[in-house]
Order: sequence, then structure tokens, then C-alpha cells
Amino acid sequence: MINATVIVDRYGDPEKYVLRRGLAVFIETKDNYILFDLGPDSESLQRNAEKIGIDLELLDGAIISHTHSSHIGGINALGWSSPFLKILIPFDSMKSIGRIIKNNGLVPIEILDWLNPWPQVYVTPPVYGPPWEHFLVINTPRGLIVFSGCMHPGLRKTINVIKEKFGDKKIYALIGGFHLENALESYIENTIRELLKVNPEKIIPLHCSGSLFISRARSVLGNKVVEVKVGNTISL
Ligand SMILES: [Zn+2]
Ligand SMILES: [Zn+2]
Repeated sequence: MINATVIVDRYGDPEKYVLRRGLAVFIETKDNYILFDLGPDSESLQRNAEKIGIDLELLDGAIISHTHSSHIGGINALGWSSPFLKILIPFDSMKSIGRIIKNNGLVPIEILDWLNPWPQVYVTPPVYGPPWEHFLVINTPRGLIVFSGCMHPGLRKTINVIKEKFGDKKIYALIGGFHLENALESYIENTIRELLKVNPEKIIPLHCSGSLFISRARSVLGNKVVEVKVGNTISL
């Protein structure tokens, strides 16, 4: 079982959590604790993790999906909680994000190609959006669980890259940003058609997915579309 807990996003209880436009998801696999994206600032990452009861010191590693500020801001918090932690960083960001990571006592590792940093856990090569983006793929007996920061390259391109590695293995779940907040309706409809081809058992739109996309996805996939807010854990 894979557990994913949303630490940073815009949606949740404002009395309890620091809500921000950004993304950070805590992933628990059989063997490891991994952080997918770091949110836009240290405050939201640190305070929400504490409220939820997640100990960032337990992390085995973290990955930054792409260079947008809403996904990298918690570097400082990680420097405090988990010095020397390995952070997988986007292609071509060693001189920018890599430098900040080193200055915070953490260890940057640039993603150049497919990686398999932990059992079951894979990271895609750079996929061009812009910017370069990486996706986290967890290979489970039920199928693949794909984590997305923003999905700037779009659904089809993203899925095609994953197919290069995993062939026609079923995509069991898609979780994260779909970046369709300001997309044209026709583009959203296109994505829905692609989504139907993928036909995941679960889709968990977060961050910048946009309400129109979520309602259209729900109309074709029904209760396979699951809403998860800050502080919630979904077991996949
Ligand atoms: Zn982005
Ligand atoms: Zn986005």
C-alpha cells in the first residue's frame, strides 16, 4: 500500500493549516518516506507537517518536479529538519536550485535520465513543458501510481514517456497538478479524451488542476475522481 498525504496545497481548513498556492506531498511506500515537491515556502511545509504529525526527519529523500517557485520553497525547512538529505532536482538546475540546496546543507542530485532511487520508485527523465519536468512513478502490483507537480508537458506527452519504460502496464492512479486552471475549454476536453484512454482507477487532482477540469473529469470518471485536501491521506 502506498500512502500519500498532502502537506501543502491551496485547499484545506484555513483555521488549521497554512494554505498556499503550491504543492508538497508526503509519500510512504513499504520501505521509504519520500517528499514530492516542497511547496512555495518553508512556513507552510514545516507548520503543516507538524500539524499533520509528519516527521520530516524521517525522510529518505525528496524530489523537486520542476523549477517553479511554488514547488521549491521549502528547501530551508528541510535543511533544518534533515541535513544531508538527498534532493533530486530538475535537469539543468544545478547552478540555480542546486546551489540553494547545497547552501542549506542538503545534497542535490540532478536528474538526467530514468532513476530508480528506492524500491518501486522511479523518476522520469526530463520532459519538456516548458520548463523541464519530472514525474514520480511508483510501480505496484495494481499498476503505476504517477505523481505530477504541474504536468506542464500535458497528459499525452507525460504518459508516452512513462510508456517508454513500462510499456502498457496499467496506470492505476494519477495524482497532483494538471495545470488546467486557465486552459481553454477545448484543451481541457482534449485532456479528458486522453484521460479516458489512460482510464486510471483513481485520479486525484491537486494544486493547479482547475475546477473546470475536475468537474469534467468527474462527469466521465465518476467517483474515481477523489478530492484530497491538505492534511488528508489517500491510500493507493
Ligand atoms: Zn509549474
Ligand atoms: Zn501548475
